[in-house]
Amino acid sequence: MGLDGCAACFGDDPVKGYEQRDVDTIAELVDDSHFAVSIRLCRACGQRFAWVFTERVMGGPEDQHEMLLIPITVEESDALVAAGPDGVYGVLRRLPDRRSLFRTDLGDTWYRDDLWIPGFG
Ligand SMILES: [Zn+2]
Repeated sequence: MGLDGCAACFGDDPVKGYEQRDVDTIAELVDDSHFAVSIRLCRACGQRFAWVFTERVMGGPEDQHEMLLIPITVEESDALVAAGPDGVYGVLRRLPDRRSLFRTDLGDTWYRDDLWIPGFG
């Protein structure tokens, strides 16, 4: 199984990739104010994604929010669910590098320079 998704969920336009209108959240694994992880599924192609939200406390007036969208296999999805909330981070850290989508903001303003980065960690 590839990890490239389709134009609806993970095409070449990173901004559009983050909109993911045809993607359903199928599991909420962690839901904390500073760290949240869910698994998403594209209705069009069946690609699964780990959606990772992190809030970095920067010490200034604004904290920084980071979101990472990682395409994952069904096996990796199952491993994340099986790991439970305390084990999710470790499973994410062990994922091999792959094209993922990273987005960050400062305050209310999204950066426009979304970029593709290797996998989590
Ligand atoms: Zn898709």
